[in-house]
Amino acid sequence: MSAEVINGKELSYALKQEMKEDVKLLKDKGLTPHLTVIIVGDNPASKSYVRGKQKASDEVGISSDLIELPASTSEEKLLQTIEELNNDPSVHGILVQLPLPDHIREENVIVSIDPSKDVDGFHPVNIGRMMTGEDTFLPCTPYGIITMLKSKNIEIAGKHAVVLGRSNIVGKPVGQLLLNENATVTYCHSRTTDLKSFTKQADILIVALGRTEMIDETYIKEGAVIVDVGINRLDDGSLTGDVNFDRAKETASYITPVPRGVGPMTITMLLKNTIKAARGLSGK
Ligand code: NDP
Repeated sequence: MSAEVINGKELSYALKQEMKEDVKLLKDKGLTPHLTVIIVGDNPASKSYVRGKQKASDEVGISSDLIELPASTSEEKLLQTIEELNNDPSVHGILVQLPLPDHIREENVIVSIDPSKDVDGFHPVNIGRMMTGEDTFLPCTPYGIITMLKSKNIEIAGKHAVVLGRSNIVGKPVGQLLLNENATVTYCHSRTTDLKSFTKQADILIVALGRTEMIDETYIKEGAVIVDVGINRLDDGSLTGDVNFDRAKETASYITPVPRGVGPMTITMLLKNTIKAARGLSGK
């Protein structure tokens, strides 16, 4: 058996076509969703992510602007910039590209963003709302993963979902969203003993480790759904995931590739959140 591939690039394209229509309707009512991105310092990877986010915004008609601050920017200055954006009604979504320079405490920055403009879904208020199952901005990567599963009508309720990784941006929230969808959820991490004894039980296996192609067919139950979140750059410059795709696909029922998997969905869900923020603020 060879698994069906869930192509995040194709799904993103389809979702962006729908969003274009949504944005057009909003523009007809005089409202253009606007995203402001702040980048501190000149980390090349961050710059490339930010370019990707702005390009995707442009594709669906969301306007965006970029505030570039030098690496030496003080935390106080950054918080002041965010406060101005919180108070600016023409800005619907605020995104501070992470990571930040060491002298700035990320948690202070995240809580300073108005939760109603927190399109990354990292504010503790929005994380709390996600936990209690209220309507909120979901963090983009986990939101993209759930959207991929739903796009294939993959049953989540009653299934055993095993999440490898417990970061605040991927592992923990994706487990919570799967729980909200009535899965039975197990989290594994670097202190888990006998990882395979858990992964072999997974009906849905979410892999967010940052370990190049660590997960092969020996970790996977026959017919499992495999979501590979990992993005690892090989020496030749190409990208690969945390899952050995060629080996895993023979055992899995569905699998997401890298590239063209979860990555494009992450940006697409940011656009969804920005449109939601614009609607929410104006009531349109
Ligand atoms: P982190 O480094 O923050 O977290 C990695 C997690 O994996 C940790 O919980 C760690 O455990 C666990 N872990 C690491 N090695 C092992 C191991 N050998 N066995 C068991 N558990 C292990 O990474 P992120 O969550 O931020 O990202 C994970 C991957 O996803 C990365 O490759 C990243 O590039 C990618 N990513 C992709 C995105 C996308 O849009 N597709 C978005 C965000 C990230 P412990 O907590 O104990 O240290």
